[in-house]
Amino acid sequence: MNLSKIVIAIDGYSACGKSTTAKEVAKILGYRYIDSGAMYRAVTLYFLDHHVALTNPKEIHRALQQINISFKINAKGITETFLNGLSVEEEIRQMRVSEQVSPVSAIKEVREAMVAQQRKLGKERGIVMDGRDIGTVVFPQAELKLFMTADMMVRAFRRQREWLDQDRLVDLDDVVENIKKRDLIDTTRAESPLRQAEDAVVIDTTHITIDEQVDEVVRMAFSKIVSMRKTTR
Ligand code: C5P
Repeated sequence: MNLSKIVIAIDGYSACGKSTTAKEVAKILGYRYIDSGAMYRAVTLYFLDHHVALTNPKEIHRALQQINISFKINAKGITETFLNGLSVEEEIRQMRVSEQVSPVSAIKEVREAMVAQQRKLGKERGIVMDGRDIGTVVFPQAELKLFMTADMMVRAFRRQREWLDQDRLVDLDDVVENIKKRDLIDTTRAESPLRQAEDAVVIDTTHITIDEQVDEVVRMAFSKIVSMRKTTR
């Protein structure tokens, strides 16, 4: 059966399980998964390594022209982020990047460059993209929009657990502080702040498992696809 391809936009606060859900949903639907946060993280890594001053528009402009971000699926079936041809998947998850990513993402020119790339990636449709402005700015016409939220401590414990699974010990207080700071900058910035799109469905992940989150989103996606088939018949 040839199913119509839709665009699924998943937005929400930091560490609510957006990426984990989006990846799994994409796998089940045979869609492409794009982690837009990884793109902002890659830009941040480049800015840090090249000492780009966030207050200097010329430096920012020049740096953005040197940055090429791509995604490849590795042998384990996991999507890796590449910056100028090198895998930076591990580096972009480090605390030094997490601490700077929200100020970098608040810069207008950075956002314009990333949004343009994200729209290109979504041209073929059949995509699940997660981030902060996907349903509001990048794909306002997305057929399915979700807005994820969860209790702060639950989010912090989950993020700390993820890092522990990778043998990285990060203090819970530092995780909480980072999540709070990012949420504050992301929701209050002038350029496309994080907000719920009017037509987004809210999913609170505090008391549900990843499997339940995934099932719920897949169910909603299928129901959208089926209703689209009916209207195009
Ligand atoms: O999704 P993740 O937590 O990795 O995103 C890292 C940061 O990138 C966010 O805290 C936010 O500042 C920024 N971001 C954004 N717009 C997006 C995706 C991420 O501003 N679409």
